[in-house]
Amino acid sequence: MLDKVVIANRGEIALRILRACHTLGIRTVAVHSTVDRNLKHVAMADESVCIGPAPSTDSYLNIPAIIAAAEVTDAQAIHPGYGFLAENANFAERVEESGFIFIGPKADTIRLMGDKVEAIRAMKAAGVPCVPGSGGPLGDDPATNIKIAREIGYPVIVKAAGGGGGRGMRVVYTEGALVNAVATTKQEAKAAFGNDMVYMEKFLENPRHVEIQVLADGQGNAIHLGERDCSMQRRHQKVVEEAPAPGITPELREQIGKVCVEACVRIGYRGAGTFEFLFENGRFYFIEMNTRIQVEHPVTELITGIDLIAEQLKIAAGHKLSIKQSDIKINGHAIECRINAEDPETFLPSPGTITGFYPPGGPGVRVDTHIYGGYRVPANYDSMIGKLIVHGPDRDTAIARMRVALSEMVVDGIKTNVALQQRIMRDKGFQAGGQNIHYLEKRLAERKNQSIALT
Ligand code: ADP
Repeated sequence: MLDKVVIANRGEIALRILRACHTLGIRTVAVHSTVDRNLKHVAMADESVCIGPAPSTDSYLNIPAIIAAAEVTDAQAIHPGYGFLAENANFAERVEESGFIFIGPKADTIRLMGDKVEAIRAMKAAGVPCVPGSGGPLGDDPATNIKIAREIGYPVIVKAAGGGGGRGMRVVYTEGALVNAVATTKQEAKAAFGNDMVYMEKFLENPRHVEIQVLADGQGNAIHLGERDCSMQRRHQKVVEEAPAPGITPELREQIGKVCVEACVRIGYRGAGTFEFLFENGRFYFIEMNTRIQVEHPVTELITGIDLIAEQLKIAAGHKLSIKQSDIKINGHAIECRINAEDPETFLPSPGTITGFYPPGGPGVRVDTHIYGGYRVPANYDSMIGKLIVHGPDRDTAIARMRVALSEMVVDGIKTNVALQQRIMRDKGFQAGGQNIHYLEKRLAERKNQSIALT
């Protein structure tokens, strides 16, 4: 097993990684910014190193500082968590060149998946179903682009090859708007991602977001752990996730899971990963692969009983996958609510000091959070302060448990989105299951219009 791991992240995921390491008898090094000295995992880690001031560019994105922390503590490996440097191929490369193990795929794989045009090409070649599209980057010739769009059929979406975080894309409904849309998206992509390459896809109007979790050892073995439904989104950000996805039959799961597993073996994938799909009219359309652990991984852990971070650590240590596909059994239903320090009506971040924290409990309730009474939520980072995850024998029980757990959850001193999550759990459409990615925003807009009408 690994001996000592640097946790190159903060917040709940840093604590989650620390727990997995300590469970496996691995020592930990917490790296943190100056405003993060009071993080829970920093206190619990075997060692800690301050890597810079609050702005993440100077700390959690500071590659030399993180590698230096691994050197001075004589660590063996670096776990990037999610966000920050987790999908930065240059970081993975620098880590390995410096003689440490990067807990994730090879740098080349991260680079391949970071270029969406190349990723789609590779996935298509591996037999993964993709959204009908340009199949490559768009050039500057308007006539050619108009021809491509006609073949795909309107509406189309123009997307940045180097895009991420739901940015750098534009939906085009008519031919008259196409040429301008391509030019504008190119300019925006250049400014935001330093890469003006764009491509075109059919715009699916009412898809769900369904993703497949995989584990691969980079030694020819791979498995899938079923799917998650992450269709409850606001501004392309996931708000609620669940597993399994309502309405996905075991046959459909096996079919798409097998395709993902085969693709992993073909590209020599190593570690945990997620194939993200849009799902419409019973069909899967690949949009991208995330080459890291995801925020919503606990719902998969609860229905499969597999500790995904422990598996990442074992794979990084060079172990062959010890779990076979036939070992994966889906048990019950799990739901995750992201808990954010934000105003539940305006969604504005609400940093500040937590004066009291009373977490929920009971059967099937899991709370992944770094907060505690007296903890100060800094304004410098993402507003997510934790995740409430529940498991039950079936979806209705899971929803009921989530409702009770949310009602028990008390975070004093700052605003949180707990009230919004309660409304989602009580929403008839959510309870019915299988809503598309626009559902939550539509419901929020209806509510806003209603309250304006009433005042
Ligand atoms: P990012 O890396 O920025 O998250 P994705 O390619 O994963 O970009 O797309 C983000 C979101 O944009 C999707 O979850 C979906 O809501 C929307 N989207 C992307 N491509 C399409 C498409 N072809 N049709 C409809 N919606 C799309």
